[in-house]
Amino acid sequence: MFYRFKTLFNNNMVVIIRGLRVEVPEISVIDSVKLPSSETAVIVVDMQNDFVKPGGKLVVPSTINTIEPIKRLLDKARRSGVKIFYTMDTHYDNDPEYAIWGEHVRYGSWGWEIIDELKPSEKDIVVIKTRYDGFYGTPLDDLLRVYGIKNLVITGSVANICVLHTAASAALRWYKIYVPMDGISALNEFDYYVALRQISFLYRGVIVRSSDTIEFY
Ligand code: ZN
Repeated sequence: MFYRFKTLFNNNMVVIIRGLRVEVPEISVIDSVKLPSSETAVIVVDMQNDFVKPGGKLVVPSTINTIEPIKRLLDKARRSGVKIFYTMDTHYDNDPEYAIWGEHVRYGSWGWEIIDELKPSEKDIVVIKTRYDGFYGTPLDDLLRVYGIKNLVITGSVANICVLHTAASAALRWYKIYVPMDGISALNEFDYYVALRQISFLYRGVIVRSSDTIEFY
């Protein structure tokens, strides 16, 4: 059932960091998974105009490739009665994060809004967060527990920032994490695989080859 990234990495992917050769470890990926609808939620992390759309303040170009896979996953989740949560990265005047990233997702702005293609329905739950972690200072954990959720399918952006911190925080609370490879995005491949590696190895999350091979029952 498990296979390795041998073809993708050509057996030994090596990155060179200031002359230092670092071999990238293998990452386990499963082909498909079936999850119980009543105990599973899908989380869409920060798919907001500023991160996704041309003219956004902090665009991650590869987010565009994740829109359709996430949309198909959400359609399937809604048909199965799976709860859907969205996080919205949110900042206000003089937010300290502006010093790191520049101004982005200012509360109430166009850039702060979730992209039209993935607009939440009235049954979905939107969680406003002010840091990378979707749990930090938010009601997310409480809401997941209220609904008896044990499994989280995490999608969105940025893979090694808000997705990773949210997955980490979920795993520390003993939620089981599933991440479809085509549902997350990063600024470069290295960051993307760092996120997969940490989620898989450290947080014992399950990396699934595709959003289309995650089923609910
Ligand atoms: Zn931010």
